[in-house]
Amino acid sequence: MVFYFNYLILTMNEDKQSLSRKDFLSFTGKSIAVGAMGSIALGVVNPDQLSAQSDVSTTSPTARVPAAPEDPIVLERWKSDVDQQSGPTPTPLPPDQRVGYAVVGLGHLSLEEILPALSSCKKSKLVALVSGSREKMAKVAAQYGIKPSSCYSYESFDQIKSNTEVDVIYIVLPNGLHKEYTIRGAKAGKHILCEKPMANSSKDCSDMIAACSKAGVKLMVAYRIHYQPHNLKVKELLENKTFGNAKFVEACNSQSSANPDHWRHKKALAGGGALPDIGLYCLNTTRFILAEEPSEVFAYQYSTPGNPLFKEVEELVSWQMRFPSGIIANCVTDYNVHEKRTYTVLCDKGWLSMDKAYAYKGQQLKSAKADGRLERQEEIGIAEVNQFAEEMDHFSDCIINKKSPNTPGEEGLKDQIIMEAIYKSAREGKPIQLK
Ligand code: NAD
Repeated sequence: MVFYFNYLILTMNEDKQSLSRKDFLSFTGKSIAVGAMGSIALGVVNPDQLSAQSDVSTTSPTARVPAAPEDPIVLERWKSDVDQQSGPTPTPLPPDQRVGYAVVGLGHLSLEEILPALSSCKKSKLVALVSGSREKMAKVAAQYGIKPSSCYSYESFDQIKSNTEVDVIYIVLPNGLHKEYTIRGAKAGKHILCEKPMANSSKDCSDMIAACSKAGVKLMVAYRIHYQPHNLKVKELLENKTFGNAKFVEACNSQSSANPDHWRHKKALAGGGALPDIGLYCLNTTRFILAEEPSEVFAYQYSTPGNPLFKEVEELVSWQMRFPSGIIANCVTDYNVHEKRTYTVLCDKGWLSMDKAYAYKGQQLKSAKADGRLERQEEIGIAEVNQFAEEMDHFSDCIINKKSPNTPGEEGLKDQIIMEAIYKSAREGKPIQLK
């Protein structure tokens, strides 16, 4: 009887496609019961042994294990189609094959989002730090297991050239410093991932692109929205015209700041106020989901008189963009109101609307369309991912497989040119044509 049971397992492993788990369990359950009864009858086992043997099997259920590192292991299915399926299983590269990142600047974004995200990356790993504070860097290095020899100050930054573990320099500094550290990083022969906005002027963006091209290194702007699944879904639905043709986009990104001494309120370091910091999401995401470039902009700008926050940079920018297809986008950004991060796309057969559209998490995507005498509204639930990890892994994949990133320096330059036109329109009170 025991022999028969083993035979069944072998048969199932060889023919796992044709024997379902349910069949397997019912079949083996019966054979265990029959085998056990036979054993008792023969006086081979006592009843205590019986319960241990019949309740627990150490035989693993079937799993498909593809050889390619990027193909996920496919585990035995157990959920019915009534529920959302889990998986696929993550496919991390072995640590010695992952791309090494040096993170420059240990402020809010690095400490709260990027360093934790690196721990969940599959193709990227943290190997070095750059900071102006020795004390802060020592603590962070200890937390993330970074060697003291891979910790650099802004003065010793260029020595990173000889650190063979560093493949990418991720610049997470105030906007006005992106250009300097991109050019120094490119000269050190490292690929560059630069936070948004890429720089403070289109001239600076062009210089950064030229420096990376001259050094033969890749340059990517950290536009995480391009790697965020809800936004990718919207792009796909618009591309497939699931709701017909897009006609109008309304986008808003606002928050409230309190510290007039912070670099975000200093023109030289920030480049501008709400527009380059958060309004940029409305601009870049609209271009991304529509897959179209605006041909004209018209803008208004406002700052509350006497508010020290807006001595150097603006509080509110509201602008419209006209696209060659006829689509109009209406965007607004503000540094002095309660947080709101949304967009809506009105199409001729329905609409799509995203709440928390540019937030780190919590995206809520809704759609509506007519169904006879009904209006069908639907919430499209998509599993959340870590946007920063997706973004870094995309860049690492481009490096490993010698591909161009989806958001190269040219993407940052395009936004900068449009932002310059938006400011010009607000100043001059008239629409500005874009080439
Ligand atoms: P932060 O002020 O929290 O951190 C900036 C870091 O730069 C600090 O560690 C600071 O010490 C260092 N620094 C070096 N030289 C400095 C100087 N001269 N003045 C001020 N600080 C100096 O800022 P943050 O919110 O982490 O933003 C950093 C960058 O990341 C900015 O470009 C910002 O636009 C971008 N950002 C992107 C996202 C995103 O979702 N992709 C979110 C937030 C910020």
